[in-house]
Amino acid sequence: MWGTNGEWYERAQRVIPGGVHSPVRAFRAVGGVPRFILRGEGAYVWDVEDRAYIDYVMSWGALILGHAHPAVVAAAQRATARGSSYGMTTPADVELAELVASAFPFVERVRFVNSGTEATMTAVRIARAVTGRPLVIKFDGCYHGHADYFLVQAGSGALTLGVPSSPGVPATIARTTVSLPYNDPVAVERLFHERGDQVAAVIVEPIAGNMGLVLPVDGFLEALRDLTRRFGSLLIFDEVITGFRVGWGGWSVRTGIEPDLITLGKVIGGGFPLAAYAGPARWMDRVAPVGPVYQAGTLAGNPVAVAAGYTTLLQLQDDPTAYDALARRTRALAEGLQEAFQAHGVSAAVVWTTGMLSVFFRPTPPRNLTEVQASDVDAFRRFFHALLEQGVHLPPSAFEAWFLSLAHDDTIVTQTLEAVRSALPRMKDT
Ligand SMILES: *Cc1c(COP(=O)(O)O)cnc(C)c1O
Repeated sequence: MWGTNGEWYERAQRVIPGGVHSPVRAFRAVGGVPRFILRGEGAYVWDVEDRAYIDYVMSWGALILGHAHPAVVAAAQRATARGSSYGMTTPADVELAELVASAFPFVERVRFVNSGTEATMTAVRIARAVTGRPLVIKFDGCYHGHADYFLVQAGSGALTLGVPSSPGVPATIARTTVSLPYNDPVAVERLFHERGDQVAAVIVEPIAGNMGLVLPVDGFLEALRDLTRRFGSLLIFDEVITGFRVGWGGWSVRTGIEPDLITLGKVIGGGFPLAAYAGPARWMDRVAPVGPVYQAGTLAGNPVAVAAGYTTLLQLQDDPTAYDALARRTRALAEGLQEAFQAHGVSAAVVWTTGMLSVFFRPTPPRNLTEVQASDVDAFRRFFHALLEQGVHLPPSAFEAWFLSLAHDDTIVTQTLEAVRSALPRMKDT
């Protein structure tokens, strides 16, 4: 048949660095053998040993409808049968761009790319072109893809593996980024007063999802909006995770705080490689062929990805209860987890927003990377493996958020909490 996860791990490591194509997939932070996945359906994945797991990785947030949603599968199949790529324009990519633009009051133009990395790179390129300034302000523990100048105090896999600043990034490039503590408007204000005339952009995850889930404190995003306006810099909201996950549109729509540019990815591709940057015409029309800022892509706006993304967004738009249901179930899971930890005397803080949550093994919800790193990663390691035993697959890092989909219904939440209650007593002896 398909052999064991262990056999595949051996084979994988011989031909692929670390056996994985993206470092967050490795089990380095938790130990053990990664599961090799054969198929997924709804909230479940199955590994090569035919074991089922309730999945909270959900392609790192890309799958808001669950695995292999029938409408998305059908749309992708139909698109593939008509030709999987043309390198020419299609009506479908125009329709998806219109739909995305309609969700954000400040967005007039949308450009599709293949990955979140490309989207954030180009947003920064526009900001530098518009302002004629070099500096980018980001925040410790936020992740904006793997462009050179973002790999400074970065989150996600860079954080899990303890290499938040990567070799191979020239010092001259790293110096064009200033990384400040998340949720610290005073630090941002100080930087603007010292070097404001050099700042092209502030880029931020409006909800930080790549150091675990860290919510913005009241006034933080407002301060960023205010300072960037006063000093003539652009504000970029990186909503690659939060876009169409925390609600229709994203956090900018939920809060009414409008950035100059926004980046999207994950959910808008329905599980296919698709991302976007978007904003008003006065910034977006700086991009070639209208303006001089260059950005291109052989597979950009790929018709299969566009069909999957469009179908995903239509499912969300057509169901007025979708986000309420997602919020209610995320809350039920978060509250159930918190109760279970209390009942077992485990010190943990559960943080949630619609469709995502984090468990931090520390007494209170963290507000920044320093507080995130003061959590008990060994407790997470034991919790992760105890739950994996029970058939629940969490992201294999204490510093990654769990993602729910609309396939995570009340039954799945109940089953997860039962697994947690069985797992917690066993955390002690592993
Ligand atoms: C995932 C992510 C990216 C990078 O997207 P890729 O498609 O992996 O390149 C950028 N920003 C945020 C906030 C992300 O979560």
